[in-house]
Amino acid sequence: MKIVCIGRNYADHAAELGNSVPSEPLFFFKPESAILHKDHPFAIPEWTEDCHFEIELVVRMDRAAKWIDEAHAARCYTQVGLGIDFTARDIQKELKAAGKPWEKAKAFDGSAVLSREWLPLEGLGGDIQNIRFSLERNGELVQQGHTADMLFSVDALIAHVSKYSTWKTGDLLFTGTPAGVGRVQPGDRLEGFLGGRSMFKLDVL
Ligand code: ZN
Repeated sequence: MKIVCIGRNYADHAAELGNSVPSEPLFFFKPESAILHKDHPFAIPEWTEDCHFEIELVVRMDRAAKWIDEAHAARCYTQVGLGIDFTARDIQKELKAAGKPWEKAKAFDGSAVLSREWLPLEGLGGDIQNIRFSLERNGELVQQGHTADMLFSVDALIAHVSKYSTWKTGDLLFTGTPAGVGRVQPGDRLEGFLGGRSMFKLDVL
């Protein structure tokens, strides 16, 4: 099982980090070992001073796909969830400046948070590009997204990635984060919402 993550898929988030909007989807991987165990707290790694939350809609692949075109990509999934793509922003900045890969900043243990459950897309209205999601920190809204604002649709992302890497059943797609990312501190409590429903609560150590 692999996790594919998309960078810069919302214009407002690309702008807040001073990045240009990409002309094609930007993707990277997290290994299975990055998944935070359910109901475990998130421990900020000791080697970063600037660990950021990024709330993201997550799509789970129900079937394998290679070289699938955008028009047929919706056949690949029926359920969605919510996740956090934890990012060591200070390390990522160093790597980016040096032209090096991001894995150290993105693929570490616990960096992929997943919601407790998957929701059938039908129950959310059936249109993957019409879903609201948000993140609260200590009860205050810090990020809110709407999938209509994605630069590349979920189906376009699935099609693009499938040109390079075969999708397998159970693979996960983190679809990018909207604006509002920020640093976590020990003692924070994060709660994610998908279509108004609480999907996870997470303590930060
Ligand atoms: Zn992300």
